[in-house]
Amino acid sequence: MYDIKGIREDFPILSRTVYDKPLVYLDNAATTQKPRFVVNTIVSEYYSVNANVHRGVHFLSQQATDLHERSREAVRKFINARSVSEIVFTRGTTESINLVASSFVCSQMKPGDEVIVSVMEHHSNIVPWQLQAERFGIVLKVIPMNDRGELLLDEYERLFSKRTKLVSVTHVSNVLGTVNPIERIIGIAHDYGVPVLVDGAQSIPHMPVDVQALDADFYVFSGHKVYGPTGIGVLYGKEYWLEKLPPYQGGGEMIQKVTFEKTTFNELPFKFEAGTPDYIGSVALSNALGYISMLGMDQIAEYEHQLMCYATERLKEIPGMRILGEAEHKSGVISFLVGNIHPFDMGTLLDRLGIAVRTGHHCAEPLMHRLGIEGTVRASFALYTTKEEIDALVEGILRICKMFE
Ligand code: PLP
Repeated sequence: MYDIKGIREDFPILSRTVYDKPLVYLDNAATTQKPRFVVNTIVSEYYSVNANVHRGVHFLSQQATDLHERSREAVRKFINARSVSEIVFTRGTTESINLVASSFVCSQMKPGDEVIVSVMEHHSNIVPWQLQAERFGIVLKVIPMNDRGELLLDEYERLFSKRTKLVSVTHVSNVLGTVNPIERIIGIAHDYGVPVLVDGAQSIPHMPVDVQALDADFYVFSGHKVYGPTGIGVLYGKEYWLEKLPPYQGGGEMIQKVTFEKTTFNELPFKFEAGTPDYIGSVALSNALGYISMLGMDQIAEYEHQLMCYATERLKEIPGMRILGEAEHKSGVISFLVGNIHPFDMGTLLDRLGIAVRTGHHCAEPLMHRLGIEGTVRASFALYTTKEEIDALVEGILRICKMFE
């Protein structure tokens, strides 16, 4: 039994009002709300255990270190990594991708070597590669998609050359909701001996993820999109690759020995964690993962799948509705346009009805270009979204359509 009422009670913010209307929060792809359990962790750790980790001999420091490292183990278990050495804490998806882009390109690539991304990437999986392209003369190649928003795998395979060194692709599109066939994408790359980075920002909250089963070389995600706090995220990397890559930033924690002549680096994963880590955030993140594990990722995926089908059906009843992205496998997100109503107008008027959606290019301007539009309205769901909220969205859109008649 999926106890949606009980679940919603775990998220205090869901019972607030905006403009005297009940909040209908449908901006979960941007960030998810936090259960009481996670917020309480932050408060109680600051009040009772706060001390800098790893360096202290005193009781609190050791306790904080213990909690932080137990959190790493919880993340390892959640994505089924082989070892805690493969779990690097970062600030989020963006920093994780920048880390790989920076360390991989400078150590594994030469001018003219190629990275493959897809047309539906978030800017954070485009711009870090472009920055490296400017510095090191590497080349970006782009997997195209069909009009339903599905990547063209034949075209993908044709992009490989002797110079292809890395594939970096999103698991789930934050605009179209497309669930990409990531096992096949990884399998094809591995046939060419090329490693794959998976942007898991939009998959980790919605489906079970097993990095070993996927055989992903890197998998990255943000805590705040999976019911955890902002400012913490994860880079999973196979030990083989993390050992090969040089440090991303320098400072405390990541060193073994420092002299003015030469510095040696700490073992994995600390080699990539310069400075004081977010040891409170890591514990809150592990509790967020614990919370969703308790609900069951399979149950969450099944519940959200039903919501997705219901929302798609109901939205299609609206005259002039155009849904962007009609892939066979979708998750979490529906982007749409209605008649000639500008997405910004739609979003602003929905907001007045208490309905929070996102409008614009969703940090995916090249995708907007491919679709021939400037932006969309995006409704995105979470484990606490209800059919009643989808009904409110549909009624809100119909009301706004009337105003524009
Ligand atoms: N990748 C995808 C697919 C996203 O949806 C997002 C955020 O919306 C990001 C990367 C960037 O995440 P963050 O801003 O948490 O680093």
